Amino acid sequence: MALIVQKFGGSSVKDRDRIFNVARIVANTHNAGNDVVVVVSAQGDTTDDLIAKAAEIGHDPSAREMDMLLASGEQISIALLAMALNELGCHAISLTGWQAGFRTDRAYTKARITRLETERISSELERNRVVVVAGFQGLNKLDDITTLGRGGSDTSAVAIAAALHADRCQIFTDVEGVYTADPRKVRNTRKLEEITFDEMLELASLGAQVLNNRSVELAKKYNVELEVLSSLNPVPGTVVKEVAKMEGMLIKGVAKDTDVAVITILNVPDEPGTSFKIFGLLAQKNINVDIILQSTGRDGKKDISFTCAQGEAETALRVLKESAHYADVSVDTTCAKVSIVGAGMQSHSGVASKMFEALSNNNINIKMISTSEIKISCIIDRADAGAHDTVDRDALARQDMHHILRRERAGIRLRLHTIAHDRRRARTQMPEPLHRRRKCPAHQLRRALSGQLRAGDAAQRGKARLQARE
Ligand code: ADP
Ligand code: ASP
Ligand code: MG
Repeated sequence: MALIVQKFGGSSVKDRDRIFNVARIVANTHNAGNDVVVVVSAQGDTTDDLIAKAAEIGHDPSAREMDMLLASGEQISIALLAMALNELGCHAISLTGWQAGFRTDRAYTKARITRLETERISSELERNRVVVVAGFQGLNKLDDITTLGRGGSDTSAVAIAAALHADRCQIFTDVEGVYTADPRKVRNTRKLEEITFDEMLELASLGAQVLNNRSVELAKKYNVELEVLSSLNPVPGTVVKEVAKMEGMLIKGVAKDTDVAVITILNVPDEPGTSFKIFGLLAQKNINVDIILQSTGRDGKKDISFTCAQGEAETALRVLKESAHYADVSVDTTCAKVSIVGAGMQSHSGVASKMFEALSNNNINIKMISTSEIKISCIIDRADAGAHDTVDRDALARQDMHHILRRERAGIRLRLHTIAHDRRRARTQMPEPLHRRRKCPAHQLRRALSGQLRAGDAAQRGKARLQARE
């Protein structure tokens, strides 16, 4: 008998028929003699609809009240799925995130899991019940409801699989697995049989929403092998694991993220402590910083640009002006990030230059560049961000960057916004290494302040606890 965690996203439970479809998958798994914990998201577009309802009430609702509101979506799904399972004669019980033992920090709307107390789940499993857990939610030290950020149900599922030492963690969704690019937007994409945690983490962080990036981070940390598969079509999906088989492809995928804001601070003092001051303040506000670019100093001054999510740009701007007292701060929300991801890029020369050549041939200006061993990201104008929408499978197989990044449209607007502005005659330097979102100074600082991560010491399945932070 195995313990299997199965997670179903919003589209998989969007209406009565889909709920019964999920109930049948779960019941079959349970009837085959397995213990099953199911994690579900809110139905269909419920979370978006709740956000829209909040916007009808006020412009800037409190984050605490947003979490109170948003958590209600998942609560509907768990009750309906448990009812459907019971209808099929499969004993099931629904648990909210807090009943299931999810404890989080205080960061409303983007809380991180601090602990998972699994006694309740375990005792329900011992009673041979299927346990249906609400994803995306937990409880903080104030006993307030928190949510884990958009797409957070994936993280809930992985956390349960890690804490219970599950034998399998299956993420059911509305596509058949992880593809080389979003199969809904790009023609001729290819489903990957396997992908490594690192590659998946990059793809997820860079905009491929099929898995939430924090869930992949957690899966890597606790070595939880994931299977991404369709809830509608019972065919093998994609396995996400530490070491994947070589598929003879250097570039595993292409991702686009339009939720990007570039913030530029001009004329900051060129002295030790400036970056700490800036990114320390942003860390205090839990703002995730991605790419950072700074100019070389001149006359004791330098300029710093960084990217963050658009929803965080306003707070970042306010903090930099009001707390750091920088006068010359601007935000550009007309950008997008296109990235290519694949292990082994670093040891293969010419990948970066081919990508840049492809962008150049299409007259697309690169505003910022970020590299790591397994990815290259370019910040470009959003108007140009259809760039990879024509990814084709053969081009990927040939590693032909011109085709991979071929644009369909012409007529590109060029608008320089880097701090290497001609007018200022400033020379830019690429910070070394350029940071990835999950390794941003803000993030690292927050980790440093909140103590080192501890490995989970879950011992027995029955009494396991996830001690470590996410
Ligand atoms: P769920 O509701 O199941 O959590 P999501 O909408 O969060 O599903 O994620 C699934 C969607 O992710 C797919 O419908 C697809 O459009 C999108 N997607 C983006 N990039 C990729 C990719 N590389 N591979 C597969 N799907 C992708
Ligand atoms: N319902 C939440 C969202 O839409 C969480 C999730 O789907 O994973 O973001
Ligand atoms: Mg999702």
